[in-house]
This record gives sequence, structure tokens and C-alpha cells, in this order.
Amino acid sequence: MKALVVHPGQPISLEDVPVPQHDAECLIRVAMAGICGTDLQILQGYAAFSGIPGHEFVGIVESAPAKDKRWIGKRVVGEINIGCGACEWCAAGVKEHCIDRAVVGIRRHEGAFAEFLTLPAVNLHVVPDAVDDETAVFVEPVAAACRIFEQTEVARSSQVAIVGDGRMGLLVAQVIKTATPKVTVFGRHNSKLAVARTLGLATAIATDSESRRFDIVVDVSGRPEGLTRALELVRPRGTVVMKSTFHGEAPIVSWPIVVDEVTLVGSRCGPFAPALELLASHAIHVKPLISRVAPLEEYASAFAEARHALKVLLAPS
Ligand SMILES: [Zn+2]
Ligand SMILES: [Zn+2]
Repeated sequence: MKALVVHPGQPISLEDVPVPQHDAECLIRVAMAGICGTDLQILQGYAAFSGIPGHEFVGIVESAPAKDKRWIGKRVVGEINIGCGACEWCAAGVKEHCIDRAVVGIRRHEGAFAEFLTLPAVNLHVVPDAVDDETAVFVEPVAAACRIFEQTEVARSSQVAIVGDGRMGLLVAQVIKTATPKVTVFGRHNSKLAVARTLGLATAIATDSESRRFDIVVDVSGRPEGLTRALELVRPRGTVVMKSTFHGEAPIVSWPIVVDEVTLVGSRCGPFAPALELLASHAIHVKPLISRVAPLEEYASAFAEARHALKVLLAPS
């Protein structure tokens, strides 16, 4: 099959590789895969990953282990953490913190920038007909946005700032807006802020001084300085949700966190079921974020575009 492959210290390349085989996992033909910030970081060396990257996908189950035959032919999206099944985290159903986990396209498991990938049936969710492929490919990042509701109470009266106007910022902002109308996106890019406004979101320039008035600030800037900016915006006893994973350190002055008694919350993967519901009910809109759908062969220009565009999708088959 065709796949994009990362080898340590080398640029990503399109290769002919064997179709992956795992006896305990379903084989999925990938219809669409999304390029996200984490993938761009992996290309820079984040997570020291080698293999096939890509973890946002939708596809059709081609074959399955005997006990999972009912999945064959289903159109699915998939949770990306694969637990060991034996540790305390896995026993508690929290496979995203399993010490020995594999993560699709990020850690010890082949990813979705290929014609096929494999996943255990327990990770799969059927995509309703109301959600087309170009929308379904957003389930994983929308689920990550939904994780915030499990960690922090967002009230109808909460004032929320989103630091970052990129693909994840505009998804997080829309998800938060289902809980409170008072959401402001802070960004640096006029074109992306314009898209945010068409989605009904309030916007502000990144440097606008609106200091210390937000109950909750979500840093999705993907930049080291995003956390500093978030700490400037949050009110005393407010909450900063950290959603940026990047390869490197974030220099911050820590005393204001102590003096203002700010709660810092790290936040990663989230629940797929509410994400699918939000997309199926059109409570959030993803089509305005898509700048291009490219075949695998055009990966070089697709990745280049993904560095400045909102969302670039790959269509492997
Ligand atoms: Zn991602
Ligand atoms: Zn485990």
C-alpha cells in the first residue's frame, strides 16, 4: 500500500509498504485523514516517532478478527490510544494514560497517512450517515475539545478566552460556545479571525489588552508564549486549560499563578460520542476550516499548506 513514512532524521516520504497486520485489530481502509499540529510537530521530531504518522481519520472496516466481524463494512472513526489491557489505568477504562499504551501515528502504532491502518474494535465508533467524510475526520480533535467539559465547569455565564486562531482554536471555541455565549478568540491572523467571525465567534487581536477578566482561558496557540498570554488574560482564581503540545519548552514567570491562585489544567484526548453528536447536530461547523483535500502524492505541498492554512485533509484511497 501507499503510505507516508517518517524515518529518524529524514524528511517524510511516500513509500510502498506492506499492509499492516495485527491479529487482534480491525483493518480499516482510510477514506480521509486530517493533518494536525501534532503531525507537523512529529515532522520536527516531537515524540521521536518513526513510522506512518496521522491520527485523525475516517474509513471503512475491511476485515476484522472473528469476534469483531460485525464491524466489517462499517464507516468508522477511531480513538487513538491503545492500552495494554492489563494495568490499573486500563482496568479503570482510561487507556489514554496506560503506561504501556500505543498511540496511533504518534507512539508505536502505524497511523492514518496510508491506504490502510489497523485498530482494536474497542476503539471504533460508527459514523452516522448525517456526518460526511470531510466532517467525520474532525471527530478526534473535536473530542479533544470536549475533554475540557470533563475537566472544568463551563457555566452559561462563564467568560472564556481562546488563545490561538488556528484549526484547534476554532474547534475549541465552537465547542465551548455550546456551553456559554461569551467566547472570544485571540489571534494573530486576520484571515483566520475572519473565519472565526463567520462561525459566530467574537474575536480580538492577540495583543489586545483585556487583562484578567476571563474565568477560563484555553491556550491552543501551539506556541511556547501562549501560556504567558493565557496567564495575562485569566482572572484571579480563574482556570487556564493547556491544550498546546509542542516540541520544546515554555518559559513562564510562575509567581502570578501563585499570587492569583490560578488553576492550570493539562488537557489532551477526549470522548468521541459527544463529539459525534455535536457534528451530527451541526452545533459546530468544520467545512469553513478546510482549505484543501489532497491525494497522498501531493503530501509535500499539503504539509507546506498545513503550516499556515486552517485544515488540510489527505485522501489516501
Ligand atoms: Zn491531532
Ligand atoms: Zn494499560
